[in-house]
Amino acid sequence: MTYIFTCRSCGERVEINCPLAQRPARKKCRCGRWATRDVAAEHGRPRNATTGEKRSAIAGCGAGEEAELNRDLAAAGIDAQYDPRNGDLVARDRRNFLKAIKARGMHSNTDGGFPL
Ligand SMILES: [Zn+2]
Repeated sequence: MTYIFTCRSCGERVEINCPLAQRPARKKCRCGRWATRDVAAEHGRPRNATTGEKRSAIAGCGAGEEAELNRDLAAAGIDAQYDPRNGDLVARDRRNFLKAIKARGMHSNTDGGFPL
């Protein structure tokens, strides 16, 4: 599970991929202040109204996994990428988003799974 912590001081977002039992209450930010859990950010963001692009942090990947997963997506012909800056999954549209999450064994909220 990916948890997102946002620093109220500098706005930096920190993502932590860990089991619930190991989830910290807060996370030290690079600026030296504390980042607190950002539940709204964990529940995905609406699609970009102009481009139709679908971006999701919770369907994203851990640090350093982007390159390999992006190669898998390209090989499968799925028009989606993991953002190397933060691991967010960014798909051209919902159809490609659903293909990308299915490739990693995830389901969308419309399938009765966790909201992405
Ligand atoms: Zn900060």
